[in-house]
This record gives sequence, C-alpha cells and structure tokens, in this order.
Amino acid sequence: MDLVIARPEGLYCPPGDFYIDPWRPVARSVITHGHGDHARTGNSHYLAASPGAGILRARLGADINLQTLAYGERLVHHGVTLSFHPAGHVLGSAQVRLEYQGEVWVASGDYKVEADGTCAPFEPVRCHTFITESTFGLPIYRWQPQREIFSEIDTWWRANAQAGKASVLFAYAFGKAQRILHGIDASIGPILVHGAVEPLNRVYREGGIHIPDTHYAGDFKKTDPALRQALILAPPSAGGSTWMRRFGDYSDAFASGWMRLRGTRRRRGVDRGFVLSDHADWPGLLWAIEQTGAERVMVTHGSVAVLVRYLRGLGLDAQGFTTEYGDEDDDKVATA
Ligand SMILES: [Zn+2]
Ligand SMILES: [Zn+2]
Repeated sequence: MDLVIARPEGLYCPPGDFYIDPWRPVARSVITHGHGDHARTGNSHYLAASPGAGILRARLGADINLQTLAYGERLVHHGVTLSFHPAGHVLGSAQVRLEYQGEVWVASGDYKVEADGTCAPFEPVRCHTFITESTFGLPIYRWQPQREIFSEIDTWWRANAQAGKASVLFAYAFGKAQRILHGIDASIGPILVHGAVEPLNRVYREGGIHIPDTHYAGDFKKTDPALRQALILAPPSAGGSTWMRRFGDYSDAFASGWMRLRGTRRRRGVDRGFVLSDHADWPGLLWAIEQTGAERVMVTHGSVAVLVRYLRGLGLDAQGFTTEYGDEDDDKVATA
C-alpha cells in the first residue's frame, strides 16, 4: 500500500487521512517547513516540528490551529506512526517519517545536506520509500563549501565599504537572509535589512540562533555616511523599487543557487552573483537518497526527469510525483 499519493489538494496519506504540505486548504495538514510553497493558509489543523512554530505563526498568522512535535517524537494517528526529522533547509524544516504496518516512507520536503548553524542539520532516515525534491537535480550543480562563499561576500562588502559604496545583497527573506547574516563577518560595517527580513531575524534570535545586530534600512537618511559602509539585505522583489534610491551609488549582488548559471545573473542585472543555496546539490541529493537505503524513490519539484532516469540507472524504482511546489521567491524570480 502507498503511504503517500498525489491528490489535487496535495500529497495525501490514505491510512492517516492527512496531507503533507497541501497546496489547497484541507482539514489536516502536516507541514515540512514555512516557505510559501509548502506552508499555505486555510488549513483547519497544522502539525509541524516545534522549532518551526515561530516561523509558521509569523507567516500564516498567530491564530492558526498548530500542533507541534519535537524532532524524533512520535505520534500515532489512525495506526500511522508519524515523526519529524531535521531537513537542514531552514529553521524548523523537517522530513516526515510515516510508518504503517511495517512500511516506512519519508517525505523530505526541501532539504540541504551541508550543516549551516542556523537550523538542525539534515539527518538521514532509513525507509522503504523516499520522497525527494530535485530543485538542483542536475550534475552541473555542485556547491562550493559555504565558508568560501561567505568569504567572497565579505571581500566584496569590504571593498565597497573602502570605496564608500553601499553593498546591497538580494536574498530570500526567510532562511537565506539569516544564513548569510549568521555566516558573514559582521565587523566590516553596519548591517541594514529590509522590512521583510527583520521579522524573520527576530524568530531566529528567539530560537537561539546567532544573528548579528541589524537595523531597519528605512530608518537611515540618504545622506547618512553609515550607508556607505553598510551591507543591506533585501528580498529580490525590492530590486528596482523606489526603496533602493536611498542607497545612492551602490553595488548589488544576488545570493542563490541559480547564480551557478551565468545567464541568471545577467538577467537579474546585478554586479555580483554568489552561489549559495538552501537546497542539496547533485552530489548531496544522491548522497541523501543513498543514505535512506530506500529501494523506491519518488521525485518532486525540480529536474524530475533527469533524476528519475539517473536513479533508474542505479537500479532503483524511481518515479516522478507531480506537485505544485517550487515557487520559493528567489527561485521563481531567478528562473522567470
Ligand atoms: Zn523551502
Ligand atoms: Zn520547495
């Protein structure tokens, strides 16, 4: 029996009668993480890993009907044993492990295998069937260690500050922005953020994650000399808006896995591209899949056909799963 099937509302567990990251409103939802394409409003009941509670309430509303479980804690519902395990993607992100009559399935949501200090690191979970994303499921996607990327960002920021120029870095407001703040050298200059970024910073700080001091960019006048030394973190949607005018002559950059493709940076029209993704790269996907020991792999959003073909070549029973995931702000903008 399949423990997860695709339904018009989303991924559905028939024996448990609940949905995982549904894209249409349902009675019972199990949420892997707070990105907009996975956590949507309108569900009567939400179940998620407890480190993600603050994020879900900040994004979906404080009044959602939310139940949480610690990582590894088990809940039995209609005979299905459910537990959450770290996915290493963003704060509170989880893989969902389902066990029913001896069958084990894991739905991984989005995941990243390199630990980054802003969320619990990815933990492989043994299973019979693994549901994996494939956002960067092409052999060209191989990430450099994040330490090297942060050092590239520091070097760019330092050079701009020395030249008296603001450094505007576009990054997705939830997850990517906090990972950058956690990883950079905060002693270079003041750090300013867009209004979309700061509420998430607050949730990370409340979760005990070190995020250096940040200031609202809107509080600074165009003439303030601090702007010329500052790093400004903003969501991609702020690019080209009037909000940008206060920074005068600035250098801009975009941090995303899509920056691996030269054309993407050119289309974005930014000075620099930093290849930094919160998703597994090609070797990371293959490593994670192998670690599960799964014989059957269901591939969702991304390079489904390529990954399915490759896994079949390894002798695995692989197939694509149609979902409506993959509209994370930065990805959508970058691939548009
Ligand atoms: Zn995500
Ligand atoms: Zn996703």
